[in-house]
Amino acid sequence: MSSAHGITPALLEQTLSATRVDAQDGTLPEVFHSLSSDTRSLQPGALFVALSGPNHDANLYVQQAVTAGASGILCSRPPAQSLPIPLWVVTDPLAAMTQLARAWRAHLSAKTIGITGSSGKTTVKEMLGLIVSSRYRTGITRGNLNNHIGLPLTLLNCPSDRTHLVLEMGMSAPGEIAHLAELAQPQIGIVTNILAAHVAGFGGGNLVSALRGIAHAKGELLQALPHDGLAVLPAIDPHLALLQSLTGCAILSFGPQSSGADVVFTPPSYGDDGMLSTLILPNGERFALNLPGFGPHLWLNAVAACAAAYGLGLDAAAMQEGLSRFKLQKGRGSVEHGQVGCRILNDTYNANVGAMRVALEALSHMAPAPQRIAVLGDMLELGEAADTLHAELAQTILALGIQRIFLAGPHMAALYQALQSSPGLQLFHYADPVALAKDLSHYVGHGDAVLVKGSRGMRMERVVEALHS
Ligand code: ATP
Ligand code: MG
Repeated sequence: MSSAHGITPALLEQTLSATRVDAQDGTLPEVFHSLSSDTRSLQPGALFVALSGPNHDANLYVQQAVTAGASGILCSRPPAQSLPIPLWVVTDPLAAMTQLARAWRAHLSAKTIGITGSSGKTTVKEMLGLIVSSRYRTGITRGNLNNHIGLPLTLLNCPSDRTHLVLEMGMSAPGEIAHLAELAQPQIGIVTNILAAHVAGFGGGNLVSALRGIAHAKGELLQALPHDGLAVLPAIDPHLALLQSLTGCAILSFGPQSSGADVVFTPPSYGDDGMLSTLILPNGERFALNLPGFGPHLWLNAVAACAAAYGLGLDAAAMQEGLSRFKLQKGRGSVEHGQVGCRILNDTYNANVGAMRVALEALSHMAPAPQRIAVLGDMLELGEAADTLHAELAQTILALGIQRIFLAGPHMAALYQALQSSPGLQLFHYADPVALAKDLSHYVGHGDAVLVKGSRGMRMERVVEALHS
């Protein structure tokens, strides 16, 4: 059958209807040390699963997998030449991998937490992973492997000695979360929030019904929970009541202190490089916490993670210990120090409308009004509404009192126009970030706080580099 720690050829053959092509020497590995669908990151001893897409035939990578040290191959077409490792041929490698993950999950006794929501999934996953792994052997979704490929891979790479599993679940259409939850069998489900992301799959034009559709789709996680499970829900989300109605198990809510949620944070104070708040648990336990950066959303993510940890029976000491290790990745709201003595809020990794608002709010916590500078590049892939959505950022900028604004890209021209008639602004627009970067240094001085953000395609990190030189 399966070994204590991983997938064996026996489990594979018992689970799948696969044709085995034996290795040249006829031997089979005892166990696969891991599973991989990517030869670039494949570790020696892995089972390589050849997952083809519309634009690539993964069967062509079999030889590379052998070179990288794979000890078995799962694919849909055997190569012409014989291999030094065994190979299993199936009709549909993704379906086979999913079936194998289902079988492996049945072997795992780990208490499982599923995390979905429109934004903050990875952050909550990291935070909860830090807390739970401070006390237990914990399997955690790597990076952003949150879909119908990433989740089975995560399960299949989880050794059976893990007592806890923290899993991110993403979706772009109804039914996807139900599928992931059926595979993962979580006892605890976290919904971070319901926001307008991936709206296209949810009834197009009407935002109100699209958001309800998104809430129902995220709610598939709640519907999959057992009766003695726990739903962790956002107290300040307009869709809270709908989410509550979708679950039959106990609920813990999270939010700011003013929301009266079960797990809350007090109004944060902001320092030079980070922020401080106190978190309060349902049993009255409280603890102080420093978090890096200035993003107010990090507190929501922290209390979401703590609510789930509380449901697992962990105490404030474990939460404080775990969360004190939380770090921001470079380019995702990290704070850097520029050449002229400015502080840079480097959020160049990516941007969408919600994330842009959160970042502008973070900037407003960094420095007094005259010293705040927003450097913003286009938000891409917004379709027909792109210019309107860019122009709407004007309200946020004016409400937060940000007076120095540098914009780059064709869509940002709409925001430039929307701000043009507002008095007292230092407002510039450039065709691209390179032209902007050349000019910016003339306007940035000691003590200024500079937010740099835009979609990945805008490569706004070029502006950050200029501020360092
Ligand atoms: P993806 O769908 O790409 O996997 P995600 O849900 O995993 O995203 P994160 O990677 O944790 O989200 O965060 C992405 C961005 O979303 C952050 O940089 C921040 O701008 C924004 N964000 C994170 N958490 C929240 C939150 N609780 N509320 C609003 N915005 C948030
Ligand atoms: Mg993510």
